[in-house]
Amino acid sequence: MKQIHIGGLVSFTTIDFPGKLAAVLFLCGCPFKCAYCSNPHLIPLSDGEYDPDKVFEWLKNRVGKLEGVVFSGGEALMQGDAAIDYMRRVRELGFAIGLHTNGFYPELLKKVSGIVDWIGLDFKATRARYRDVTGVDAGYDRMIESLNYWVHTGCEMEVRTTCDPRFVSKQDLLEIADICAASGVRHFAVQKYKPYHEGDCDCGCRNMPDKTTDAERNQFFVDDELRQKINSKFETVVWRDQ
Ligand code: SF4
Repeated sequence: MKQIHIGGLVSFTTIDFPGKLAAVLFLCGCPFKCAYCSNPHLIPLSDGEYDPDKVFEWLKNRVGKLEGVVFSGGEALMQGDAAIDYMRRVRELGFAIGLHTNGFYPELLKKVSGIVDWIGLDFKATRARYRDVTGVDAGYDRMIESLNYWVHTGCEMEVRTTCDPRFVSKQDLLEIADICAASGVRHFAVQKYKPYHEGDCDCGCRNMPDKTTDAERNQFFVDDELRQKINSKFETVVWRDQ
């Protein structure tokens, strides 16, 4: 069986899988090069830092102590069937499976329904700005296909937007929220943008030196009218300003 490439591991989290005590596995490889990526070392499909067999043995010892395992990245689905087989084996241990995804692989998302219990899907910008954020074409349309597919499964999901003021305005955020609500999304999250690099970077990512101020990054969180409008569109909205 083809092995997966695991670039990082968090042994315990209460925030990455709603309502569950979980571990997080960060898989290598991502088709995007986002302008604010906080895991740029995971963008290349490198060998990874962790032996998947040893991680699996470790997970066996966490049965009864953890409730879920989240596959994050990078973009976990970029590893295709190897990642899906690994998810299936982890699920067979009795864990709920979460997936953080950028939605670039709707055809693979279809393959994991029945294995994955919950997804956190990035909706990074409006269609007009998607390439500016991600550095690649077709990301928006693929993400929308993933969104519409997962809503249709009836499985749990959160859609989240990181509000980098270089790429997302308040009007954009309302437009994104409208599209999600019209698609049937029930849980939405607004995330504060945090610059990752203070200076130039040579790791191959597209993180750029950034002159935005904290007031610009905070503008989405201090506008009560905006918050009310967005809150009214969903069952729950999480405002992550930290
Ligand atoms: S989707 Fe963007 S932010 Fe997420 S790992 Fe890939 S490049 Fe980084």
